[in-house]
Amino acid sequence: MEIKKDNNIIEVHTDTVYCDGGKLGHPRVFLTFEENKIECPYCGQIFIKV
Ligand SMILES: [Zn+2]
Repeated sequence: MEIKKDNNIIEVHTDTVYCDGGKLGHPRVFLTFEENKIECPYCGQIFIKV
């Protein structure tokens, strides 16, 4: 069985993003950039501030 991790990087222009897990789904969380990159603690989605 092949397990695929769907970690497409999302590029944003704001200081705060939210993630609700997309296909996987989890409670909506707001994440604030401390560096130029955030990884969602729930689903591992990576956000890059550009
Ligand atoms: Zn997430």
